[in-house]
This record gives sequence, C-alpha cells and structure tokens, in this order.
Amino acid sequence: MRLHVTNGQLVTPAGMLHGDLLCEDGVIRGVLDAGTKVDADERYDASGKLVFPGFIDPHVHSRDPGLSHKEDFEHSTRGALTGGTTTVLEMPNAVPPVDSVEVFSQRREQHERSAWTDFGLWGLALGDANLDQIGPLFAAGAVAVKLFWGYALHRETRALVYNLGDEPPENVLMPPPNGQVLNLFAEVARHGGLLAAHCEDKDVLATSQERLGHPIESYQDLLDARPAAAEATTIAIATEFAKATGCRFHVVHLASSAGLDVVRWARRRGVAVSAETCPQYLTLTDQDYGRVGPVMKVYPPVRAQADQDALWSGLNEGLIVSAGSDHAPHTVEEKARGFETQPAGAVGCETFGPVLVDALLRGKTTATRLAEVTATETAKLYGLYPRKGVIRPGSDADLVVIDPEARRTVRNEELIAKQPVSPWHGFELRGAPVATILRGEVAVRDREPVGTRRGRFVAAAHTADRNP
Ligand SMILES: [Zn+2]
Repeated sequence: MRLHVTNGQLVTPAGMLHGDLLCEDGVIRGVLDAGTKVDADERYDASGKLVFPGFIDPHVHSRDPGLSHKEDFEHSTRGALTGGTTTVLEMPNAVPPVDSVEVFSQRREQHERSAWTDFGLWGLALGDANLDQIGPLFAAGAVAVKLFWGYALHRETRALVYNLGDEPPENVLMPPPNGQVLNLFAEVARHGGLLAAHCEDKDVLATSQERLGHPIESYQDLLDARPAAAEATTIAIATEFAKATGCRFHVVHLASSAGLDVVRWARRRGVAVSAETCPQYLTLTDQDYGRVGPVMKVYPPVRAQADQDALWSGLNEGLIVSAGSDHAPHTVEEKARGFETQPAGAVGCETFGPVLVDALLRGKTTATRLAEVTATETAKLYGLYPRKGVIRPGSDADLVVIDPEARRTVRNEELIAKQPVSPWHGFELRGAPVATILRGEVAVRDREPVGTRRGRFVAAAHTADRNP
C-alpha cells in the first residue's frame, strides 16, 4: 500500500517544509519536493494544510477493565484517533492495575482487541510491594512506571483511594513511605527505565485541608486545600532522589509555576527531571470556573493566569517536554454532583490535539515546538523514538492533517467518550484535524473512521543513556 500525501506544510525536525510524503507499507519512505511524480495507490491532497506527526497522548486513563461504565479502551482510542492522536499510552490504574508483568500481558492482549490507535502501556509502582516487577515490566515494553505518590490503594482491588475517609482502614493499603520510594528510584535507574509520578505532597494537602476548616465549597477552597507548595515539595524530593540514584524522573500533569521552578532548578543542577503538562493547565484558569463549572475539577487543580503563563514559558523553553490529556472520565452523574463529592478528572483525549492546535494558532507556541511536545519528545521520553513521533524516512507513517482555516465548536453531544462531558464544551477552536493517518493508511477523514480499527501494541525500548 502506497499513500502519497501531496502539497502539505510538513512539520519536521528541520522545521516547516512545503512538500510531499510517500508512505509505503506503514512507514514513511520519502520526504519529497512538492509535485514529485510517484506511483501510489492513494493520494491525499494536503494543500493549505499543516501535516504534523500523529499526536502521542501519553496520559490516558481508559478505566478498562473494572470501571468501564466510565470509559473503555474502544471509546477512548476512537476519540483520540478522531482528534489526530495515533498513539496513546494507557495509564496502569484500571482494576486490576498493571502492577505485574502478568497483568501487563493480559492488558496488552485485551487492548489489542479494541484499539483504534497504536498504544503503549504504563506499569504501576507500589514501592516494596512490587519492586521485583519493575525489571520485568520494562523488559515487557512498559513505557514508564507510575507512582501515585502519597495515594493509598484499596487492599483488594488495588484501586486508588482518593479520600481516606471513604474506606474502612482495614481495606486500605497505605502509600509507601519515602524510604521505599527511594528504593523505587534506584530500581528504575537499574533498568534504565522512566519513573513518573503524581506530585502533590499528601501531608501538605492534609494540613491545608485542615487549615481550611470546612469542606470544599468553592473553587477558591479547592485551591486553598491543594496549594502549589504541595506540587513543588514533591518535585523537590523527587529531584534529590533522582540525583541520588541517577533515575530519570518525569512529573506528570504539572500545573503550577512553583512546580515549574523546581523543575528548572533540578535541570540547572544536571538532574534528569522533566515535566508534562496538559491542555487544561495551558488553556483554562481559575477565572474560567464560572463558565466551565464543576467539570473543571481535576487534581492538581487548574490555577491562576500566572501559572498558565509560566507553563507556556516552560513548554517553549524546553522544561516541559511533553503534553498529555490526562483523560480521566467519570460518569456524567458523578461530574454533576456537588463540588466537594464529585471525583476529580475530566474527559480529554479527543480534544487533546485540537485544543493545543487552537493555542498554536493563537500564537502561544510554534508548530515545531508543538510537534515536539505532542509527538517527538514524547516518543523519545517513553522509548518509542524513532519508530514513532517524527516525520522522517523510516518512521511509522503516523500523521495528522490540520486545516488551519477551520473553526469547530466543542460539543459534548458530539464527543465519542462514553461519558461525554468536556471542560471545553461550547469553546470555539481554531483549526481542526481533517484526517488522521495511522501507519500509512487514512484512518479518520472529517471525523469519520475509515475502515476498521487496527491499533497495535508498541513496546518501549529504554536504554540507560536516554536522559531528558
Ligand atoms: Zn492521570
């Protein structure tokens, strides 16, 4: 199968190029001058369009299995593909979680049956309880291991316990103490892997909630109960652990200027700490709460304009190397509950690329930097490069074609997610993906899938020298 993509503005590591792409047997064969004559089975005319490497969304919670009334892998990957994402990296905290190589293999087999995009899998780090599984998980191709730092787990299901008060103490596995976390850093380093964590210090959160003195009733209460100091503190501890062990450490969903400052400080000291942020932190602020409403409740919380500005600087200066959606659906009913009792997390894998493209077209970053944080650097970080994440000969022909002139309003009722409630409902976005190409075949055209689902598992190959 030969696909000839013609006349596009190609976003390549060397910058923007006006040209053609020849894709054959799923990979990019050539980056050609516009108008080059080639034999092809199919042509896609990309005149006036931007052609990015297919987006990689490294932060997706598909709730499958275990909580598939909230979302499942078929819906999350179909939504992702529609939004221009060709690879998702699935988080490990379904039920049961991916805390062993045995569950990893089951999950891989399960998701191979329902994937619309290619996918990689995260492993879950529990501390000493599964330290012996870290090596086998990386050997099986895990993209990274995730530590929900400070979160307790349900003893039987190993599901995350968001509020300790919700469960009788005998049902709860307390989070590993920091001594065990240090062992974990050493073990991940030994295997040349990548450790990532939710960074909000549990003691800072507990004290802040106590100081608030009453349940969370307003958006300001939420910010007071989850201060930026909680994020910065955990990143500071992680920096020391990364320095002591040589472990590569990645902050997921960085949300604060204070947290970014610690990442900058770590990098100045030559410590391998990098960060991800998400469209919600890059495009919303506390001032949007009136418009967006309780569906905006995510952990860590969306903060002030100054935080958003700092995150854009961090992204453009290279401290934030990757963006992810943190697609974390709950039911429509749960998200409509009162602010205090509704679970944190928002639907986002379908809007991931489109919201960032809108920001690009509003001048927040450059096309090449956007391609880096949504594809190239993400692929490098998670051991998928150069197979994924880049427009160059030999790489998988995963592409997204963007029409910069299009305007599209996000509508809950048009979302593919099983529980369609988006923080961006009613937002008009500039630019829109008009085609998603997965391994050399058009997989979505104008939001409609073309052909059947054919996502595949991709194994990460980590080596110890791939520091961020
Ligand atoms: Zn998450």
